[in-house]
Amino acid sequence: MPRALSNTPVLDETMKRSTLAFTAALAAALATGAFAADKTFKLKAKPYPLETCLVSGEKLGTMGDAVVLTEGDQEVQLCCKSCKKDFDKDKKAVLAKIDAAWKNVKPYPLAGCVVSDEKLDPSKAVGLVVDGREFRFCCKSCLKDFKKDTAKFVKKFDEAAKKKS
Ligand SMILES: [Zn+2]
Ligand SMILES: [Zn+2]
Repeated sequence: MPRALSNTPVLDETMKRSTLAFTAALAAALATGAFAADKTFKLKAKPYPLETCLVSGEKLGTMGDAVVLTEGDQEVQLCCKSCKKDFDKDKKAVLAKIDAAWKNVKPYPLAGCVVSDEKLDPSKAVGLVVDGREFRFCCKSCLKDFKKDTAKFVKKFDEAAKKKS
C-alpha cells in the first residue's frame, strides 16, 4: 500500500504534464487557425466575383449562357462570345478588374462546406460568389443544393461572419 501511495503523485504529475502538453497543442492549433476558416486554403480556381460581364457591363445570363473560362487560378465569366474576343485582346485589363472586385467580396467565414459542413478538399472543393460573399462547397452536389435555397445559406454565412468579428 505505501508503494501505491507513493506512486500516485508521480502519476498525477504525468497526467498534469500531458494535460499541459495538450493545452499547448490546442493553443497552437487555435493560434494557427486550425479550427477557424483556413486562410491558407486555396480553391483550385477562385470563383468569378461578379454578376456582370466586365467587358460589356451586362448582367451574366441575359445574353444566353455565360462564357466560363479559367485564367491561371481565376475563373472568368463573360456574357457572350463577342466579349470573349475582346477579353482575349486584353486579358490583363479584365483580370485587374477582377482582382479589384475581390477586394469587395466578404471572405468565407467557415472552415467546412457551407451546405454539408464537410471538410473542404482542395482537389474537389468549388467556390461561388453570391451577393458579395464568397461561398465554398465540398463538392458540386452541395453547390446544387445551395442554389435551391440560397437565402438560407446567405443567412448562415452572415451569422458565422458576425461570430468571427
Ligand atoms: Zn458579351
Ligand atoms: Zn458536398
